[in-house]
Amino acid sequence: MERAVRSVPGVTEVTLLLSVRKATVAYDPARTSPSEIRKAVEGAGYAIEAPEREVSPAPLSGFSRKVLTFFGVVFGAVLFMVVIGEWLGLFKSLTRRVPWPFWLAIIIIGGWPVLAEVVKAAMRRRVTSHTLMTVGMVAAMAVGEWAAAVIVVFFMRVGEYVESFTAEQARRAVKDLTEMAPQTARVVRDGEEVEVPVAEVKVGETVIVRPGENIPVDGEVIGGQATVDQATITGESMPVEAGPGARVFAATIARLGSLRVRALKVGADTTFGKVIKLVEQAETNRGEVQRLADRFSGYYLPVVMAIAFLTYVFSRNPLATAAVLVVVCSCSFALATPLAMIASIGAGARRGLLIKGGKYLEALNRADVILLDKTGTLTLGRPQVTDILAFGALTEQEVLALAASAERYSEHPLAEAVRSKAGEQNLILHEPEQFEAIPGLGVRARVNGHLIEVGSRRIVADSDSVLSSNDLEAQGKTILYVVCDGKIAGHLAASDTLRPEVPAALAELKNLGIQSIELLTGDNEQVASPLAKSLGIEYRANLLPEDKIAVVKEYQEKRHVVVMVGDGVNDAPALAQADVGIAMGAAGSDVSIEAAHVALMREDWTLVPELFAIARRTMGVVRLNLIFTACYNLAGLSFAASGLLPLTLAAALQSLPDLGILANSSRLLRIHGKSGGADR
Ligand code: ADP
Ligand code: MG
Repeated sequence: MERAVRSVPGVTEVTLLLSVRKATVAYDPARTSPSEIRKAVEGAGYAIEAPEREVSPAPLSGFSRKVLTFFGVVFGAVLFMVVIGEWLGLFKSLTRRVPWPFWLAIIIIGGWPVLAEVVKAAMRRRVTSHTLMTVGMVAAMAVGEWAAAVIVVFFMRVGEYVESFTAEQARRAVKDLTEMAPQTARVVRDGEEVEVPVAEVKVGETVIVRPGENIPVDGEVIGGQATVDQATITGESMPVEAGPGARVFAATIARLGSLRVRALKVGADTTFGKVIKLVEQAETNRGEVQRLADRFSGYYLPVVMAIAFLTYVFSRNPLATAAVLVVVCSCSFALATPLAMIASIGAGARRGLLIKGGKYLEALNRADVILLDKTGTLTLGRPQVTDILAFGALTEQEVLALAASAERYSEHPLAEAVRSKAGEQNLILHEPEQFEAIPGLGVRARVNGHLIEVGSRRIVADSDSVLSSNDLEAQGKTILYVVCDGKIAGHLAASDTLRPEVPAALAELKNLGIQSIELLTGDNEQVASPLAKSLGIEYRANLLPEDKIAVVKEYQEKRHVVVMVGDGVNDAPALAQADVGIAMGAAGSDVSIEAAHVALMREDWTLVPELFAIARRTMGVVRLNLIFTACYNLAGLSFAASGLLPLTLAAALQSLPDLGILANSSRLLRIHGKSGGADR
């Protein structure tokens, strides 16, 4: 279908999203139109459903249809056994005694929808997956094997159901997720509680959440108290306490207690809305393996036709030729990769791992270098100011007050530390007149008429000010230089705590065979060195954001596949440059969700090795799917071409690969346990 649409002049890009039954098409409106595209889709033997309609696969509705299907299946099965029995020589040709018009009627009635579609496609000079089978069936009729032709039609219909069932199972991973989205909300309007569809809630409105209910919006708690189960977003099963001032997320559940929530984001803008959208679109980020499989399945039909032709030329056996056409399963190559990817991405999303595409699972599987950011990534990102030194005329309190005033508008964790220290001491702060944040260095602001700079050593211009902080640095503390009008005024020392789960997670990554793990930090040597040493990893200190990008590029030029773990805000450019950029604690941060290739919805390092394990399992399943399909088709073709495989059996076997791929891939839906790698 993709090929059919792409061949419409003016269409530049087509991507089929199996998991949501959508296709995205980019086209030049001057050269083509939606109706042309629709025609191309129909020409390929598919139909476009109206978008408003809830799509469900080939429903067997109505009593009469059920009865018909039942008789169809019984008849087909009995006939199949009779024909196989004849073939084995168990009884004499029963089927020969039935007059051919009877068979023809069954073929036409039973095969109508499929045959009509094949003919329609053929008239547009297109070959669908059923064309080969139809040709095989016609060949069987031509040589008078009517019963075999009927069985081919029967299994054509069976195959159709298997296909739609398989696609439906693939959709399940995404559907399970979307079903967790809240439907209605109780909002306060004109002093009264009214229940409205979630889409109608406006930003700023107050929403009431009762015990056990889904929180319908992203918002701030303005009243009440509840334990909130955030597993839908973060995958974390331990509920958290939420009281006034707390941020809550849509699709999480208030377990005990009720809440009044002021809506900050609704619908698609919420974190959950973004997750769903990104999971749905994940199929567009296809990896190399899938692109190869897609290209291969494009060559597949002509190759099979050629084999069938050769079979006929050499053996003059029309039944063997028909069997060649019938036995192949053309769509299983195209299914082998996406089914597994969708399953893993869907399962990952429910565990707090938002993976934006199969491409990244593939890259994770090949990754050999991991680069880490420090502040907020390896450390908790909640540093504390521990020491204050004042040089010259100012007192320690004055130094802190100036620094905190300058840091007023910075979002850096260190700025937060400085502000809260000043808050503890009840210092009076000034509103900065000018403010400038210098990424990776610090801040510059004009406070009370003075030019104040706060940041790393590199922010200090004159060199004699680098003094007497060595013993603090030796303790592994981050030193902030406070500069007033170009003269050093003092030092603030801050220390941050390592996240407790980091050492174990890094050890596990090494076990998974990652060669080099390296810490990249804007902090100084003395902080980086002992930290890196205690974790048994490499480090580079004093890096500016652009230096971090350069390091990523340096590795990529040496043909390494680089994973970068960072905080998504400061490190967004480096994350984007890496083959896989992983952002920590992305729930509630749009910037992080956008910037990363994989967003970890909670701040938990155990998710990183889990992600690698998922990637390995997925690629293992993909590999098995492809091998299975290749072997099946190869064996099927050889047996059929050599005349060993009867046409009826060939027809019966043809939906086997689809089912095999489905069964194999759905193993990935069940990813659980602390580390998904446990069963490898
Ligand atoms: P990391 O690479 O460890 O995440 P950053 O690149 O965010 O660190 O910052 C590097 C250094 O720049 C910090 O160690 C600090 O010295 C300085 N710095 C950055 N932003 C600020 C700020 N707002 N206030 C003070 N110092 C800052
Ligand atoms: Mg950082």
